[in-house]
Amino acid sequence: MRAAVLHSPGDLRLEERPCPTPRPGEVLLAVTYNGLCGTDITEFTKGPMMVPLTTRHPGSGHVGPTVLGHEFVGQVVDAGEGADGWVGRRVASGAGVSCGKCARCRRGRTNLCDRYYTLGLSTDGALAEFVAVPATTLRAIPDACPDLEAALAQPLAVGLHAVARAGVSPGDTVVLLGAGAIGSFILAGLAGHDGRVIAVDVDPVRLAAAQTLGATETCLVSPAEPIAAVRDLIPGGADVVIEGSGVPGAAQNAVSLTGRGGSVLLVGLTKTPQSLDLADLVLREIAVRTSVAHVCDTDLPRALDLLTTRPLSGLLVDRVVDLDDVVDDAFRPLAEGQVAGKVLVSARHG
Ligand SMILES: [Zn+2]
Ligand SMILES: [Zn+2]
Repeated sequence: MRAAVLHSPGDLRLEERPCPTPRPGEVLLAVTYNGLCGTDITEFTKGPMMVPLTTRHPGSGHVGPTVLGHEFVGQVVDAGEGADGWVGRRVASGAGVSCGKCARCRRGRTNLCDRYYTLGLSTDGALAEFVAVPATTLRAIPDACPDLEAALAQPLAVGLHAVARAGVSPGDTVVLLGAGAIGSFILAGLAGHDGRVIAVDVDPVRLAAAQTLGATETCLVSPAEPIAAVRDLIPGGADVVIEGSGVPGAAQNAVSLTGRGGSVLLVGLTKTPQSLDLADLVLREIAVRTSVAHVCDTDLPRALDLLTTRPLSGLLVDRVVDLDDVVDDAFRPLAEGQVAGKVLVSARHG
């Protein structure tokens, strides 16, 4: 089968790989679409970082560089022992695999599993014609939901998880810092919220998209003046501020924009340690929460339901690229910042 394999920074190759054999509890998916996100692009430009170079990959038994791809949908074409019921079904996959047995898993927090690993990052993923996946990470795609929409389920699940972690209550004023990749799925995840949703970004194009996705207000800021204009919109501070930009200093800006008794959710990642004014947090009783990845059992079905009733591909997908052209038409333009929206990679079979 054809597969996109990361060897070294900038060296992603389309190669022939043996088709994996599903182990007990796993299925073999014929991949329909695989979405790319910032993590893939960082791996491509600076990696391998999270991606191992010398892993023995379960299923294929292949030892060596990893096949990328962790946001995918496909058709189940074969199954290992105990997973036969899935054959023939159209499915969306979660990205993270959890054990189902540890203390965190038993509490439903499978994204924090002791033995968590991520398909397409810790082991071979779905930028290929086929991928072997544990059946526990799969959800059937509703009949009314086309593959193109379902391909957004994993990143939308991440957005829905973030909104749930933020503890948004009805009527709350929510400020979102950063309307980029993560931010757009958080906005989509805020669908139905009845309070103000203010999207903040340095890019007017992103803000226009944010409005279409459901932001009630947008605020264009500059890197030099990242919060003054936002403060004018919310004199008493916001109930919830979601930091999705990952820009250095943004976490403290999020705290500054939060009103007394409000909460801050950190989703964006910064490489360098950031400082927060803890006395201010305590004196104004502000809760700081964090969110990572998603929970397969709860966030993924909600994402699929939402995409069935509210298609998002028209708003979020910039292009669909054939697997054969994945390097030149997807990774390079993404790495050069030439693509604003989501890129989906399609693996034609046969
Ligand atoms: Zn991703
Ligand atoms: Zn576990």
